Amino acid sequence: SLTGTGLHLAFGRNKVLRGVDLHVDAGKTVTVIGPSGSGKSTLLRVLNRLHEPDAGDILLGGESVLHDSPDRLRRRIGMVFQHFNLFPHKTVLDNVALAPRKLQKMGKEQARALAREQLELVGLAAKAGARPGSLSGGQQQRVAIARALAMRPQVMFFDEATSALDPELVKGVLALMADLSSSGMTMVVVTHEMGYAREVSDAVLFMDQGIVVETGAPERLFEAPETERLQRFLSQVL
Ligand code: ATP
Ligand code: MG
Repeated sequence: SLTGTGLHLAFGRNKVLRGVDLHVDAGKTVTVIGPSGSGKSTLLRVLNRLHEPDAGDILLGGESVLHDSPDRLRRRIGMVFQHFNLFPHKTVLDNVALAPRKLQKMGKEQARALAREQLELVGLAAKAGARPGSLSGGQQQRVAIARALAMRPQVMFFDEATSALDPELVKGVLALMADLSSSGMTMVVVTHEMGYAREVSDAVLFMDQGIVVETGAPERLFEAPETERLQRFLSQVL
């Protein structure tokens, strides 16, 4: 499980997180929705300590990680962003094998075997020898997901993983994320895809201006929003 409690973060005078709580049980998927600038990406970055919170605690598997090294935490959390940042001159296979080699000091052949397994999982085994630039955006994003999975993370974070993709490519990536979710991966997903949030989430968190305004089961949130702010947000995005 992953838990953030009472998380605060300010950039100068801009209070971006103002006491955020988030909990995801092992094997579950929590989705974070909310307007632009509400603090969703910052929340993920605080949870994996790319930013240190000004206050609050972060627990992984029930234990606080704030006294441990941020690097160790980041190896236990896989991150997938809007922009996949693959190395253009390396093959797809080497892109996936790189992190286990560098960060886990895995041998070349073992890392490649692991990378092949992950590419299989995302349906791209046939592209192992290709350069990222010869793949579609959706395929590149699936490589980025394989790369994150190759670290065998305890939790996966997705931040608008489909926002940069052409509409016809979005479905494939969302389907892969849904498969991961139902295979028991623990996931925190920031998304604008309300259909996806509704289908696969165990819980949804609605953020606005650095606080969690409403949280609950997806059916409840989408069908019977309690706050005026969520009602207004949903009327704009649905
Ligand atoms: P979007 O849906 O557009 O991605 P978001 O909910 O992810 O929005 P954040 O990126 O978390 O929003 O930004 C929340 C606020 O924090 C914004 O006011 C933003 O300007 C500010 N912010 C984010 N990162 C930084 C940073 N590194 N330095 C200063 N301010 C930042
Ligand atoms: Mg964001």
